[in-house]
Amino acid sequence: MNIILFGPPAAGKGTQAKILEKEYGLKHLSTGDMLRAQIAEKTELGLQAKAVMDTGALVSDEIVIGMIRSYVESSSCVKGAVFDGFPRTVAQAKALDIMLSKCGKSIDKVIELQIEDDQLIGRIQKRALEEGRSDDTIEALKVRLDAYRSYAAEVLPYYKAKHIHQILDGMKSVEIVSQDLHTLIDSN
Ligand code: ADP
Repeated sequence: MNIILFGPPAAGKGTQAKILEKEYGLKHLSTGDMLRAQIAEKTELGLQAKAVMDTGALVSDEIVIGMIRSYVESSSCVKGAVFDGFPRTVAQAKALDIMLSKCGKSIDKVIELQIEDDQLIGRIQKRALEEGRSDDTIEALKVRLDAYRSYAAEVLPYYKAKHIHQILDGMKSVEIVSQDLHTLIDSN
């Protein structure tokens, strides 16, 4: 099974993906986490990406597709994965379809976590204190929210046309969202 968790910054994708990883044995693939790992290791790619990420803009398709490819082409293709923060462009979505098709797989569900901006701002402020992410500033959040709206308007129709897009209320507690997610995944 391959699932995409889609939603704005701080919608809870990472939290829910980790729960799904444990409960369904799926590999959690987060391009944001992969990029932050590169930054922590001070690689050339990490240095390039950090400058872009700190503004809230998107890193190039080439970089993120390359990172995802190395995972999908290994064991994740067999086990299935939860994609978190990827794809963010139609080019990324198409590249992912091709990667999965090479091992006879496809995306089963795209689950969009919906949440109001007010709540997102509160969550980002809390996360900034807890994790100290350098892109969790109000300025970068505005850019990330704008970026989200424009890439969602591009990527979601791609999946709606395939009839695999579903919406989930992301404003409830972690436990309730997780239960709702299970119900959605286990249905049909
Ligand atoms: P959030 O969803 O909370 O904003 P992420 O951890 O998913 O955070 O991403 C942080 C940043 O990493 C993004 O603002 C962007 O710069 C970069 N990034 C992550 N995934 C992608 C992607 N698929 N395409 C382009 N840029 C990405």
